[in-house]
Amino acid sequence: MIRLRGAATSVKTVLIDFHTHTSASDGALTPSELLVRAAANNVKLLAITDHDTVAGFEAAAAYHKENPSGMRLISGIELSCQWLGVTIHILGLGIDCTHPAMRAGLDCMASARQERGAKIASRLESRGFGGALDGALMHAGDSQLGRPDFAAWMVERGHVRDHKQAFDRYLGQGKIGDVKAFWPELVEVTRWIESSGGVALIAHPLKYRFTGMKLRRFIAAFVAAGGCGIEVLSGRQSSDSTNQLARLAREFDLEVSIGSDFHRDAPYSAPLGAESAPFAHLRGVWQRWSTAP
Ligand code: MN
Ligand code: MN
Ligand code: MN
Repeated sequence: MIRLRGAATSVKTVLIDFHTHTSASDGALTPSELLVRAAANNVKLLAITDHDTVAGFEAAAAYHKENPSGMRLISGIELSCQWLGVTIHILGLGIDCTHPAMRAGLDCMASARQERGAKIASRLESRGFGGALDGALMHAGDSQLGRPDFAAWMVERGHVRDHKQAFDRYLGQGKIGDVKAFWPELVEVTRWIESSGGVALIAHPLKYRFTGMKLRRFIAAFVAAGGCGIEVLSGRQSSDSTNQLARLAREFDLEVSIGSDFHRDAPYSAPLGAESAPFAHLRGVWQRWSTAP
């Protein structure tokens, strides 16, 4: 199904990245650094999709206005939510960041993150790690408080060797600091995105480790909630996974999106920008936007 080189040479291809993070959430690059990097990679359509905040996008949009390039910047967000108790990430593209529905949603996420942070801290304190909340807040600075901030604080204090050990022992899935309960429901976040003029898409659908049957149930619930798209390429991914997701997109008649989920330069991370040509047989969500800046 993936025919990039050779057979697809007549298909117009463009580099797209509809899933990226900046330092406004847990990315390493500032919004302007991310823009410069994407433009250098020849990305033509870029969305900034920080976790539960549009601050990075807004800063990038201001920079982009002053420093136009041949790239088009799309608004975006990656919202955490839950479905049947599982934490899910939903991407919102092309949202009006000032829409009251989105503003209310963002307020809801900010307080959910605060409550969750306090809960993570109290659990860590119960293990003898006093001062976790203040420490993590200091690492978060102006950005969204999350588990990486607790990890950074634990490394700094010498409680753990490195970030990975913090997650393996205390913060990762199933560990004491893995607090999920505060996210809004899938239906709610999907509604915020659609109400604010955006398109809601399921981020990295295979990361939730659902069985095939449960994944179909989940997609059906998402469509019933008003969602209309799915990420068929997320970072480095096997062609088997891409084919599986492409089949699901067709089965549910969904628009498709592609992105790197770039956070930082790392051996496992994909570079910014993915070719659109291999997905020309699907309904690319990028068709909603022209590539002109
Ligand atoms: Mn992240
Ligand atoms: Mn995610
Ligand atoms: Mn992401």
